[in-house]
Amino acid sequence: MVDAEKRAAIERNHSATHLLDEALRSILGTHVEQKGSMVCSDYLRFDFSHFSKMTDEEIARTEQFVNEKIREGIALEEHRDMPIKDAQALGAIALFGEKYGDKVRVVKFGDSIELCGGTHISNTGRIGYFKIITETAVAAGIRRIEALTGKAAEEYAAKQCAITSALKLMFKAKTEDDIIKSVEALVADNAALKKQIDVLEHEKLAGVKDSLIAKAQNINGVNVIAERVSVGSKDLLKDLSFQIRQQLDNSFIVLGALFDGKPLLSVIMSENLVKERNLNAGAIVKEAGKAILGGGGGQPFYATAGGKNPDGLDKAIADAKSVIK
Ligand SMILES: [Zn+2]
Repeated sequence: MVDAEKRAAIERNHSATHLLDEALRSILGTHVEQKGSMVCSDYLRFDFSHFSKMTDEEIARTEQFVNEKIREGIALEEHRDMPIKDAQALGAIALFGEKYGDKVRVVKFGDSIELCGGTHISNTGRIGYFKIITETAVAAGIRRIEALTGKAAEEYAAKQCAITSALKLMFKAKTEDDIIKSVEALVADNAALKKQIDVLEHEKLAGVKDSLIAKAQNINGVNVIAERVSVGSKDLLKDLSFQIRQQLDNSFIVLGALFDGKPLLSVIMSENLVKERNLNAGAIVKEAGKAILGGGGGQPFYATAGGKNPDGLDKAIADAKSVIK
């Protein structure tokens, strides 16, 4: 952007800020007071007092209000060196807590009358188009609006249309409303599938559990299981470990699995083994986990170690198992 364009963009954003202030006071109420403002060539930011998040409808009405003022093409009336009493008589909005001299500058666009030292466009029509892009909280009772004007607002609208067109094509939708219906259906389908997967995973888990229990070996009076398993998630591996332990007394269970190619070693045992044999799952996974370049820990009866070396998983399982002799 060359300097003249940049200056014009700043002026557009500044004048739009005055119209926005007027719009908010008209739509939300006169409790709205400017609490901060920033204008640059790219966008404008306006902070104001208001007690709740603006609704979509309030935002839409605010945009309509400002855009109507733009289409009215209201000429700038600027009064330099106006006695402050005259400005107040005009109904000019001053910033709360701001110190003003005896003489002030009044910037007027129709019913928008503010004390302001900044530079403005000569006519509201030159703002072109006004579009709010965000409305957020900055502090308790203070909201922030970020908005675009002129070419930036036009480009923003064009981008939104391009996104809508792409979605229309993707969903083979005829209208914008059809896109929303398609996305809603997709979200619902996804939730239903997740539920189905969850059911299947748990059914599969029950089968895995039974086959592991069938493989239990009695070593020195302890029911030992040490196997590599394939389950859908770390949570399922944990479920599996606890279910086996619950079903098998006096048990020592070592399970190894890969998740996204990364190895995980899990050790769980019956409470009595912790006391009677002085075993500690945390210490066991720490030592055996070296084979998978792993680290981890947990409680004396249950611990896990995640590692970086999948090739060492069988050794890690064997090392953990060797604790029971
Ligand atoms: Zn101003």
